[in-house]
Amino acid sequence: MATVDFDDKGMVVPCPACGQKNRLAYDRLGDPVKCGKCKHELPAPNAPIELNTAADFDRLIARSSIPVVVDYWAPWCGPCRMVAPELQKVAARQAGRVIVAKVNTDQLQELGQRYGIRSIPTLAVFAGGKEVTRSAGARPAEDIERLIEQATSVSHH
Ligand SMILES: [Zn+2]
Repeated sequence: MATVDFDDKGMVVPCPACGQKNRLAYDRLGDPVKCGKCKHELPAPNAPIELNTAADFDRLIARSSIPVVVDYWAPWCGPCRMVAPELQKVAARQAGRVIVAKVNTDQLQELGQRYGIRSIPTLAVFAGGKEVTRSAGARPAEDIERLIEQATSVSHH
């Protein structure tokens, strides 16, 4: 899982070439960004991102310029372990188009309650600050991509 820091304006990620920390602004998450120090092009987030606080969740969901798929999971949940590699595939294949974020419902019970998550894994797609669809249970990467596509095309028309 990716280690990412969040601040008011975006995600802070290290440059893979020189280690310099760079900010990926929430409202330009789909755009290419060059490292401020060495000008190496920074890869778009291409792995699931663990959200550690409800504040990080709120900022990302409210301001992300691209859809965010949230995986509600917990460490003791077997099907959650099955869906984890599928989400990695989605994050890698949809880098720059979709953010995959993970919410550990044991750690962030507040979010599970707020969204009425009754079973895990539950995958929810957020676009434009709103939840547009959700689906309970593990599923393969192709199904997750279809879910995102359907949900986000509906929200745009
Ligand atoms: Zn750099």
